Amino acid sequence: MPRVKDKWDRRIERARELAGTCPFSAQILRFYAKVTEFQKGCYLRFASACGSESGRVARLPGTLDAVDLELLITLFGAFLTLIGEAAPAALAEFAGSLRAQGSGAWLVLLRESWSAGRQIDDGATPPPSGSGEVERDPFAEFCGRTFLQPYAEFLSDRAGLPEPPVRPPACPYCGSRPLTGVLRQEGDGARRSLVCSLCRREWDYLRIACPACDERDEKKLFVYTTERFPHVRVETCDTCRAYLKTVDLTRDGRAVPEVDDLASIPLSLWAAENGYRKISRNFVGL
Ligand SMILES: [Zn+2]
Ligand SMILES: [Zn+2]
Repeated sequence: MPRVKDKWDRRIERARELAGTCPFSAQILRFYAKVTEFQKGCYLRFASACGSESGRVARLPGTLDAVDLELLITLFGAFLTLIGEAAPAALAEFAGSLRAQGSGAWLVLLRESWSAGRQIDDGATPPPSGSGEVERDPFAEFCGRTFLQPYAEFLSDRAGLPEPPVRPPACPYCGSRPLTGVLRQEGDGARRSLVCSLCRREWDYLRIACPACDERDEKKLFVYTTERFPHVRVETCDTCRAYLKTVDLTRDGRAVPEVDDLASIPLSLWAAENGYRKISRNFVGL
């Protein structure tokens, strides 16, 4: 796995840089940087504990087995301590009380979070969109997903799968919905790919299509940009009222999609005010 450390460092450095230029998101970005440092440490720990040869799987397993959990539980207590110290007050309080409940409660939360919001079967149909989904406690969701994210990313990187022959709207490795889109230069134009909200795999996707409902009619799909964030596009669908932010790397090659998504919180607020819901929630639930 080349440049594994680089990708984590790029996220952390980009968050620190944007914290200096985006005052409205600065606090969140600094918190994100601290949590991402912790996630990087976990990722490297998984890499050294699991090696790179055995246990490669073509799809992220639907459940965590006992071996996974043994390693994860040893790190989860430290994660809750960090959240208790660094998070905004209400989340910090939640983490503190969960920490006090001990490993039995942690196991329940980690097992639930591992499969939440994922389409675990065959990958042929999109995961359920907003309305049919069970609403989970946002703090429990934050703690579970954020902690498990580097483990899912490690397994996804280790799988080293080729691009899928079709362009699925959900992650071809773990079945989660996309967190953001990305535009990359291709020939004279740009091609769009999607970034997974859990394992961070990036996969090729249609330039004009809604990953929530598969709408492809250009008259229903809109793109909004602002001068403040010229490289972040809000891509909306008027059929299902979903939106996705797509980070245009042809306009800012230093952007890191998940970080620039966080920094551009005013765009998320604008989308919510206009009745759009995000396809999947980011680090701060927006
Ligand atoms: Zn994934
Ligand atoms: Zn749609």
